[in-house]
Amino acid sequence: MFIGIDDTDSERGLCTTYLAAVLMERLSPLGQLVGHPKLIRLNPCARYKTRGNAAIALELESDRIEDVQEIALQTLLELSDFSGMNTNHGLVIAPRQMPQIAAFYRRAVTRILEIDEARRLLDREGIWYRGFKKGRGLIGALAATGAVLPDYTYELIAYRERARWGTPRFIDEDSVWRADGLTYPRTWDTVDHHNNRIVFAPHSADPVLFGIRGSDPQAIQEALDTIKSEPIERSVLYRTNQGTDAHILEGSVVDVRASESYRLRGFVAGSPQSIAGGHLFFPLQDVSGRISCAAFEPTKNFRATIKQLIVGDELEVYGSVQDGTLNLEKINVLHLADKTETSAPLCPQCKKRMKSAGKGQGYRCRNCKTHAEGRMSRLLARNLETGYYEVPACARRHLSKPLVRMIGEKVHCSR
Ligand code: ATP
Repeated sequence: MFIGIDDTDSERGLCTTYLAAVLMERLSPLGQLVGHPKLIRLNPCARYKTRGNAAIALELESDRIEDVQEIALQTLLELSDFSGMNTNHGLVIAPRQMPQIAAFYRRAVTRILEIDEARRLLDREGIWYRGFKKGRGLIGALAATGAVLPDYTYELIAYRERARWGTPRFIDEDSVWRADGLTYPRTWDTVDHHNNRIVFAPHSADPVLFGIRGSDPQAIQEALDTIKSEPIERSVLYRTNQGTDAHILEGSVVDVRASESYRLRGFVAGSPQSIAGGHLFFPLQDVSGRISCAAFEPTKNFRATIKQLIVGDELEVYGSVQDGTLNLEKINVLHLADKTETSAPLCPQCKKRMKSAGKGQGYRCRNCKTHAEGRMSRLLARNLETGYYEVPACARRHLSKPLVRMIGEKVHCSR
């Protein structure tokens, strides 16, 4: 059976992944857990998310269906925040994977869905579920049970001892940098070199101590063994759609809808302009229309790349659309436009710069009496190359595919 859980925590504490980790332990006497549990990220633009719009799915082989339902429900009631304003628990136990639910997952990672849509599908397929309060968590719980991952990565999440929840985390920073040095590029987003920060640990009151992301469970284990920290209560290795661009839709400017994420191809149609707060914007034009693209202040050094763009550069942009603006996650520079500078021409005889001969009368050299009609233009070097550029680790969206995973492409990793 496929067990999906979502929307159990709040800003005040707890975490759906922790609930799932405890549930795994409690279910193990009832059957065999199959493969790794799945940590599924859904549409990053979903309005009611607490943090990263995560849901969890476990696959269990067991014939004790009623016991499994009972334990899952008890664990959910025990380890979730019922008082959270926006906490609307969802628990789904599907007997098998079905194409309709896989399709529901695809839509939940890319579009905005309604709770009723999840309930209708659950009722139609006769799937066991429990939704509490508004039951919004049924969207994520059902989607997680249907998640098929053609591309995937791993994340190991280490959890804190209960007595320490809500207190500052103790993690030895030097050991984290060492772990990154030993295991990158098989692990990533543990630290942000550019911004000199450790980025793999939250600062909130939840049970998560840190999360190590990567492509290779062995490298993740090596990183874990290297990191020195406060005691770890338990840790779980999840298979996840993080770092796969599963949220990205293909489209043209005319197709884009709010709260969805796209890859668009077009030309820079105006110079990047910054506004108060350090946010940077430029218009992108394709045959169907024009859209504003933004590199907001938290994207830090990525803005220095965006500043180098000039009118005529051909790009692919990746990001989510909100309020008519595409919030950039990465760009692929396909073709650089010529950057030119014009100046008064040089005298062909003495090689000195000529002076204007008067309005509309071209240029002349007073010494040699030579004459030229127009200004001369000079090609300037570009401070940018073709290829992919990304936001730094400190600004990465969970679903965004980091350039370190783009094997065979020309990439400029933010490192
Ligand atoms: P955490 O990362 O701490 O687990 P979260 O950011 O995952 O928290 P949730 O508390 O799970 O946030 O809340 C997200 C809510 O949005 C859930 O109820 C989930 O079912 C719902 N949701 C997920 N995807 C969509 C979607 N595509 N459309 C509408 N609602 C969605």
